[in-house]
Amino acid sequence: MNKISAAEGILFVVSAPSGAGKTSLCRELVDSFPDLRQSISFATRKRRHGEADGVDYHFVDSDTFRSMVDQKQFAEWAEVHGNYYGTSLQSLEGAAKGGIDLLLDIDCQGAAQIKNNFQQGVFIFILPPDYEELEKRLRHRGTETDDVIERRLANARKEIPEARWYDYLVVNDNFQAARDRLIAIVTAERCRSDRNVHLLDKFTFEGDK
Ligand code: 5GP
Repeated sequence: MNKISAAEGILFVVSAPSGAGKTSLCRELVDSFPDLRQSISFATRKRRHGEADGVDYHFVDSDTFRSMVDQKQFAEWAEVHGNYYGTSLQSLEGAAKGGIDLLLDIDCQGAAQIKNNFQQGVFIFILPPDYEELEKRLRHRGTETDDVIERRLANARKEIPEARWYDYLVVNDNFQAARDRLIAIVTAERCRSDRNVHLLDKFTFEGDK
């Protein structure tokens, strides 16, 4: 198992079914914490309108992705909705060692790999209020065909049970409230005593002398 010690950057792993509002919530979270960096994944899917290479994703073709898998360049990777996505091992280890908190917006398969292969990670699952609302949001988005929407809803029914092993569940019933819950989680995790024992160094205690 790869080891990342408590003194190193925190890995926040956020998953959600498509349409739960994860992308916008992650963006808000990064905007709220200037010292929280969002990981940029590698992806084989087509670039959407308004997306930029190296900003939203590192867009690569399937052959490039395959050879990166063979060279063990990914901390995790998975096939999601018919495309491949992966997190660079180098950037994940670089952030951890540099004391940088990293936000990973990845699916459940990838999150499970991180949980199994790394010793740290704060796992957050964003839930829609219910399936009906999820479907309504996917249809209102207007960016996907009926086929794609059906596939995403079917995936949601497989993904939501995975939420049981995450550390935190955040219901996106109201965007501002969900954002505040995420901010509270990041703040609380940063205050954990096991990450902050060094703060006690300047204090002396009875019995230490
Ligand atoms: P989209 O194509 O809509 O941007 O993302 C589709 C899904 O892929 C989302 O659930 C997103 O969290 C997931 N995803 C994005 N990057 C990664 C990654 O690096 N690894 C894994 N496992 N999933 C990812």
